[in-house]
Amino acid sequence: MLETRNYQFWFCTGSQDLYGDECLAHVAEHSRTIVEELNRSGLLPYEIVWKPTLITNELIRRTFNEANMDENCAGVITWMHTFSPAKSWILGLQEYRKPLLHFHTQFNREIPYDTIDMDFMNENQSAHGDREFGHMVTRLGMERKVIMGHWSDSSVQKRIAGWMRTAVGIMESSHIRVARVADNMRNVAVTEGDKVEAQMKFGWEVDAYPVNEIAGYVQDVSKGDIEALVEEYYSRYAILLEGRDEKEFREHVAVQAGIEIGFEHFLMEKDYHALVTHFGDLGSLKQLPGLAIQRLMEKGYGFGAEGDWKTAAMVRLMKLMTAGMEGAKGTSFMEDYTYNLVPGKEGILEAHMLEVCPSIADGPAGIKVCPLSMGDREDPARLVFAAKTGAAVAVSLVDLGRRFRLIINEVDVKKTEKPMPKLPVATAFWTPRPNLITGAESWILAGGAHHTAFSYDLTAEQMGDWAAAMGIEAVYIDNETTIRRLKDELRWNEAYYR
Ligand code: MN
Repeated sequence: MLETRNYQFWFCTGSQDLYGDECLAHVAEHSRTIVEELNRSGLLPYEIVWKPTLITNELIRRTFNEANMDENCAGVITWMHTFSPAKSWILGLQEYRKPLLHFHTQFNREIPYDTIDMDFMNENQSAHGDREFGHMVTRLGMERKVIMGHWSDSSVQKRIAGWMRTAVGIMESSHIRVARVADNMRNVAVTEGDKVEAQMKFGWEVDAYPVNEIAGYVQDVSKGDIEALVEEYYSRYAILLEGRDEKEFREHVAVQAGIEIGFEHFLMEKDYHALVTHFGDLGSLKQLPGLAIQRLMEKGYGFGAEGDWKTAAMVRLMKLMTAGMEGAKGTSFMEDYTYNLVPGKEGILEAHMLEVCPSIADGPAGIKVCPLSMGDREDPARLVFAAKTGAAVAVSLVDLGRRFRLIINEVDVKKTEKPMPKLPVATAFWTPRPNLITGAESWILAGGAHHTAFSYDLTAEQMGDWAAAMGIEAVYIDNETTIRRLKDELRWNEAYYR
């Protein structure tokens, strides 16, 4: 479900024919070495493909258009080894439509003090040529990433790796399709939004279905398939009966197994990658989808509760951006619930009625069956666990009426001081940066929602770069944030993003 295309990135080195064949041979050799070493680093999630040195308007234009057409190309990385007059790049750049990384590096690390002469200077002048190129991209008003540093540094390679994941998010965004099971929760504002504008900005397709159309897929699931999945649940998760009758418990779990299979049939048949539900509109479903949604999220589907299609698409996007990541700690739908305001122990208890992705679980998850005060259905089965500790990002995409804003908060997930034996849902406890007071005040001033898309595996930089590529505002809340500056920033952005 989470597989992305076998994406590649093209490495295009700029130069010109003023320096003679010997110099151009060195340029090609150096850029080949850089590409080989980057690919060998083991740090990049996608392959880099070397391209012949770009020295003429025609070749530059053709190469960028080939990059546009190549389905596997997720972006172009440019580097001006020597000087490359940037008027040559105008047409190619104007016609280019994919993510662009300007890699501002240099083949040699150190100035060769004893031997340096003008030939060396002419051949190794990215400090010069990359400025000419950068000027042109800025003048064209193109969104791009600039990464500076020696190509052999692992810190530089890791930044390229992070950008590659952002680029894949930019490419994959336009393939995200969200199925809305019923409509938005009545009277709720922050989960609403302009779906046409979302398709124009992000490429998302957001379609509604009557809940009983999906419930029909659930009714069609065979008893045998349900029993097999219940067996899988029982072998994989701790069964936390807590005094309930064993047989009745298993029947409740089986309802969720039917929902998982039925929903997935529906999503696969109609090619959707994210979904929303609404506890107030469940049609013939016997339980609010809980365990079933948690399992679908773990498989890579996006999810938003109460009709929140924006968060569903963001969860899907962030799962795509982290696809195949080694040592990934998880990505989930999340909701701000309740505070701990004890000095020195401040934080927000995060959870949802049921639907938190087990990819963020710290250790094995258990299944519980408990009453749900919301809605009017039988007690739903759900996975319970506590989230891993560590740094993470929580993001909220809001529709301000005339435009979208992405609010990005760096948070530190912690263990709660004590267990919460009476709370039958999966939880995380985090302190927003820079601290709870400023973090929460900033979030509210920026208009952030109570629902978030949450990940340990992405950075604020990556999410902000994605927003910039989409042409929307990003508001960062992190250790640099002060209320006074944030309020100014929001005012300035109001003028910029008209
Ligand atoms: Mn909610």
